[in-house]
Amino acid sequence: MKNPYTGTEPENGVRQIMIRDPFWDPLREIIRSRAIPYQWLALNDALPGTEPSGCLRNFRIAAGKETGVHHGFVFQDSDASKWLEGVAYSLLSHPDPELERKADEAVETMIAAQQPDGYLNTYYTITAPDRRFTNLRDNHELYCLGHMIEAAVAYHRATGKTALLEAAERYADLADRTFGPEPEKKHGYPGHPEAELALIRLFAHTGNERYLRLARYFVDARGREPLYFREEERLNGNGRYYFADGPLGYAYCQADKPVLEQQEAEGHAVRAMYLYSAMADLARLTGDPGLRAACRRLWDSVTERRMYITGGIGSSPYGEAFTFDYDLPNDTAYAETCAAIGLVFFARRMLLLEPEGKYADVMERALYNCVLSGMQLDGQRFFYVNPLEVLPEACGRDNAKRHVQFRRQPWFGCACCPPNLVRLLMSLEDYLYSVSGSRVYIHLYLSSEAEFRLPGGTLRLDCRTEYPWDGRIRYSLHANAPLRVELALRLPAWSPRFSLLVNGEKAAYPSEKGYLILDRTWAEGDRIEMELELRPRLFAASPLVPEDAGKAAVVCGPLVYCAEEADNGAGLHRLSLDPSAEPVWDYHPEVPGNGKAVTVSGWRDRDWSGGGSALYRPWNGPDRERVGIRLIPYYAWANRSPGEMRVWLRMG
Ligand SMILES: [Zn+2]
Repeated sequence: MKNPYTGTEPENGVRQIMIRDPFWDPLREIIRSRAIPYQWLALNDALPGTEPSGCLRNFRIAAGKETGVHHGFVFQDSDASKWLEGVAYSLLSHPDPELERKADEAVETMIAAQQPDGYLNTYYTITAPDRRFTNLRDNHELYCLGHMIEAAVAYHRATGKTALLEAAERYADLADRTFGPEPEKKHGYPGHPEAELALIRLFAHTGNERYLRLARYFVDARGREPLYFREEERLNGNGRYYFADGPLGYAYCQADKPVLEQQEAEGHAVRAMYLYSAMADLARLTGDPGLRAACRRLWDSVTERRMYITGGIGSSPYGEAFTFDYDLPNDTAYAETCAAIGLVFFARRMLLLEPEGKYADVMERALYNCVLSGMQLDGQRFFYVNPLEVLPEACGRDNAKRHVQFRRQPWFGCACCPPNLVRLLMSLEDYLYSVSGSRVYIHLYLSSEAEFRLPGGTLRLDCRTEYPWDGRIRYSLHANAPLRVELALRLPAWSPRFSLLVNGEKAAYPSEKGYLILDRTWAEGDRIEMELELRPRLFAASPLVPEDAGKAAVVCGPLVYCAEEADNGAGLHRLSLDPSAEPVWDYHPEVPGNGKAVTVSGWRDRDWSGGGSALYRPWNGPDRERVGIRLIPYYAWANRSPGEMRVWLRMG
């Protein structure tokens, strides 16, 4: 293997992996060649036509190398960390000395701002050095610590350089000296979870159990009475809690009750996902049955009652939050890109805790739809909010839809999503497989070469596929000597039928929790050919979702499709699908997303209003003309002239 991605997350059990995939390679190449350099300019305030980020400048000011005031949000530091983390993964699969030099420069800039006791946060160092750790609820110091740790672990993995890792450990050590159950320590925890999952990564990377203990403390202490955030507000004279009087209260930051008592996914969706990810890690590492049960309960709450078909979560702009079961409005959806990314993080950790196909199904759904929709296909524009229905005029004129955009934006004052997307997509290698004993789980189908160190020897698995455009997936196996391995191939819930050939012969194997278990002794050159039923189909939402009643969406494999004005004209609400029609592939090279569109026969309501003279009239039966409705992959919407978009269309 050339340029293998080595040393993936240790719990995966993958020794080396290289993705060479026709779907993902072009997207990741765009991230490498365009998005990462573009974001470097943003961090350095060199992006023409956008508000300066101030991110790296803040570090220089905090280090005393420049004068000025802190710029941007209290969590501005995390933009640099997330960029660095994405760069680290990019370097793992694609060494680039020039990029590494820029990354080293960023590391040097960041570390220079570290205080003698390990503290590193430019907002407080510049504006209020005597107020550190006095407002954990609102001010994100521990969130920034978390992102710095994740960047440091990834950068150490990629380059072997230790400077950032040592700096992150110094800051983590300070956090460990400051927070914990001991009477002399502060009994707080992060308002925005992130440090928890990062400290667990730091533990996995260094073996230092203090970091695991601190992560566990943060999770255990959360939401207990007397509520730390309330005490902190009173003692430190902090501003009144923004969500104090609204429907969210402390559920906004998942601190209204201890995590073991949380029954439903509540509050800010990104915070929820980062917290649940840490809980799943802790459940795996500690074997705590209560935590495991909480993770399962919260997973079901998110994915069975509060998730869009695109994998988007957090349906309300108020608090960027979950609301209540089956409340999934399409045109005011928040569905932040970061929340879908967080769902992918949570799913991967649930797969490590207890491999089940349902986790991988959701992970894939979020990845191929809501996550990917966050980036324009040229890698230089981004969505923060990912609606399932857009009327451009409403975005500018309806206050309730002010958060919805119909064009991706060049950058954001709060720029959490773009670098988050980069770090996830550049670390896809960590999401394909996991190993449990002598069982290799295959969660995602991407063309790749991977090597596993297993109890009986080393196995290499080469995968070739055109997925998600084609359901055929071929593996060839390579081992120095015959090797007994259980290969667990995921059977996606959307593929009711599949076929399987082993060495060219039809094979029957048992399935278990969404995986086909191929338990046999494998030899060099063995082949597996699997074919999933990948064709466009109409999907309905649960009748309990009011917004989608009487509507259908087109889904093909992991991809959700949508109608755009560019293909169907304005007034997408006038379209309805013919329930008896089969959606068919409809190749159009100009359609974004590989040109593979889908056409379904349907109708368009005729306009009888004569341009506005008749708003109402007695019902007179359908008055419509037959049309073919063209749909394109949701992730590729808004890559042509701006216009309307809809995922759910009326039936009949
Ligand atoms: Zn975001």
